Amino acid sequence: MPGPKTATPTPPASLHSAGDPLHKGEGKDWYPSGLEHIWLPYAQMKTAPLPLPVVRTEGTRIYLADGRELIDGIASWWTACHGYNHPHIRQAVQKQLEVMPHVMFGGLVHEQALTLASRLAAMLPGDLDRVFFTDSGSVAVEVAMKMAIQYWLNAGQGKRETFVYFRGGYHGDTLATMAISDETGMHQAFAGLLHRHLVADLPEDEESEAALVTLLERHADTIAGIIVEPLIQGAGGMRFHDPSVLTRLRRLADHFDLLLIFDEIFTGFARTGTMFACESADVVPDIITLSKALTGGTLPLAATVARKKVFNAFWSDDPMHALMHGPTYMANALGCAAANASLDLFEDGGRLKQVACIESSLKQGLATCRDLPGVVDVRVRGAVGVVELEHIEDLNGLRSAFVEKGTFIRPVGSVIYLAPALTIGQDDIVRLTQAIADVLRERR
Ligand SMILES: *Cc1c(COP(=O)(O)O)cnc(C)c1O
Repeated sequence: MPGPKTATPTPPASLHSAGDPLHKGEGKDWYPSGLEHIWLPYAQMKTAPLPLPVVRTEGTRIYLADGRELIDGIASWWTACHGYNHPHIRQAVQKQLEVMPHVMFGGLVHEQALTLASRLAAMLPGDLDRVFFTDSGSVAVEVAMKMAIQYWLNAGQGKRETFVYFRGGYHGDTLATMAISDETGMHQAFAGLLHRHLVADLPEDEESEAALVTLLERHADTIAGIIVEPLIQGAGGMRFHDPSVLTRLRRLADHFDLLLIFDEIFTGFARTGTMFACESADVVPDIITLSKALTGGTLPLAATVARKKVFNAFWSDDPMHALMHGPTYMANALGCAAANASLDLFEDGGRLKQVACIESSLKQGLATCRDLPGVVDVRVRGAVGVVELEHIEDLNGLRSAFVEKGTFIRPVGSVIYLAPALTIGQDDIVRLTQAIADVLRERR
């Protein structure tokens, strides 16, 4: 058995040879020396291409240490909805930093968090008006799951610990959320560890609805809730479905007396063309999760928002009925200040108009991809444009090809997608869609 010492891999050769993407002789040794100590996400560290050193961002631009400039097609996992470094958000964070960067949320509250909670409650449909803050999307989903399970316990309905989730869905990387994500490849190593929830096809037609009804009939008394990413399943493959699916889910959840959870971490904040995807179907879920664009890509923050009936199940003289959760950095004041500033920027409705423009530009720009070899589908909804391929063999090669075209686009699975800042200009959309068409054409 190799001990830890001998198991330490040598740094990639290219780091110390011609591949060093940093300017030479400027004392920036943080890149080669730091790379030996960093562990990157979703990456086979041995074979993954070297990560690009970023020194600055602005609007829809990523600036690299070697002076290159990339047009960002995915806004840092869809978070930077107003573009990077928006002055309004920056000022709000700076101002908050002077006063109070953070204070624990146990026994203490502050203006930014309470203001944000009331604003979210006012924006969200129906009586979704009780906000629990966390610091990441996965944890927001875990909190939603805990709320749903305990809702039934507190109501004296016994153990209902199973969730219905959908093929193609993604809800996070933590142990509880992996179990409700259809990521067979991604989370395979942990399969034996995960609670067995119930996976179904989205009820898109009569047949799939009938199958779901059968599943619910069989298991209703052990199911806590149904969880879905409304309108667009994001990280699991950028798959779209019709708003009628959400109407069906609401009807079924009501019929079988189940909680309906919408994970709007990807779709929230205008990404799909309405402020929240649930508005497209006029459906109010019982619990909604938000993160990603909540702070406009500035700071980590997430929220799980519950309807009155969910909250009321916890409202009791019994301490055992309390929700036992409380991340150390929950409701971080800087994050809440960023989120409040981000919401300001949505207030005049301008962003929704921009999304409509992006939608038509993406449709126009990606149309040529339809006839390219290997392309099986091109689809656009809101500020999301997708080119689906039969399969992508060389994911890393494709990613590098986009960088060579001066763009940052990061295909996943078998899809190349764009989810840019909602402030992106027409010219940039043209260059992004052009890059996709060119790369696909040049792809042998
Ligand atoms: C990104 C994402 C998550 C997980 O959020 P993290 O902040 O990465 O933990 C959960 N659900 C959806 C729909 C997401 O897009």
